[in-house]
Amino acid sequence: MSDNIQIILIGGYGRSGSTLLEMLLLDRLKAASVGELKYLWQRGFIRGELCACGTPVNTCPFWGDVGGRVRSGADTDFTEVEALRLSVERHRMHFIHRDLKIPSTTYTQNRAAYIEILRGTIQAIAESSGCNIIIDSSKDPAHIDLMAEAFPGQVRLVHLVRDSRAVAYSFQTPKVRREVHWKTEMMGTNSLLRAAVTWNYINGALERIAGKAGLHRIRYEDLATDPTRMLDDLITYIDPATQDTADGTVSSHSVSGNPMRFSVSKREVRLDERWKQKFAGWRRAVVTALTLHRLLKYRFITFGSSSHEGK
Ligand SMILES: [Zn+2]
Repeated sequence: MSDNIQIILIGGYGRSGSTLLEMLLLDRLKAASVGELKYLWQRGFIRGELCACGTPVNTCPFWGDVGGRVRSGADTDFTEVEALRLSVERHRMHFIHRDLKIPSTTYTQNRAAYIEILRGTIQAIAESSGCNIIIDSSKDPAHIDLMAEAFPGQVRLVHLVRDSRAVAYSFQTPKVRREVHWKTEMMGTNSLLRAAVTWNYINGALERIAGKAGLHRIRYEDLATDPTRMLDDLITYIDPATQDTADGTVSSHSVSGNPMRFSVSKREVRLDERWKQKFAGWRRAVVTALTLHRLLKYRFITFGSSSHEGK
């Protein structure tokens, strides 16, 4: 394993702007942007959903090269890899075993095996892309915890957080998953209660694992308002000594993510705050109440003039 590989892990809840952050980072760094790596097996190699380059992942030359390298030396069946991933990433089991350090279980063995696959996959991505910086926007805390264990000292965790009211509103709005090119399939929607509870859970879990991976927090609202300053701060956190500057030659072969990765100019940054007009009344009050602790912690609600609270 090459020790000079750096992995930028974008963590957070869905509908929080991770695809935007990934695209902005590609403007600044010579990096391989792989999208939501945790879905590479099921959505990519098995289902053949579209890569950001417009080709199904299972016929994309880049991912074909990566898959060949992962398979070399071992008869790797990606269906079995997906089953292995599911066996270790299910949140409840993952954190119970992690916290209790239960030894000699099937889980422990599966976890070690999956971490080896993650190591081989990242090595293959670095070799196929020619990039030492890899951006993984999987967002999921269990995946990030595994990556932090697989690559000690080589990961940078970016905690991307968006106002819970904006997230809950967004989850009410169905979006077509354009990567599913053979039929119409929608991105998942969540009830207000589920969105609020999961927003708390995801953000709390990321803070719990930050001790292992380190953490740099960015609010979506700040990123969309002042992307230059947010990116400057982030790149300083990543490692100013070893950064590669974008040379325009690296294209994105990302797996899964927001539909914007297929169509929007990288530099078209617009703060989306439609929720402030359209998400009102009891629904907004419920989400506010359920997430108040972290809305205050992340300064989405303040008692001064700089609040992001709707006007
Ligand atoms: Zn591709």
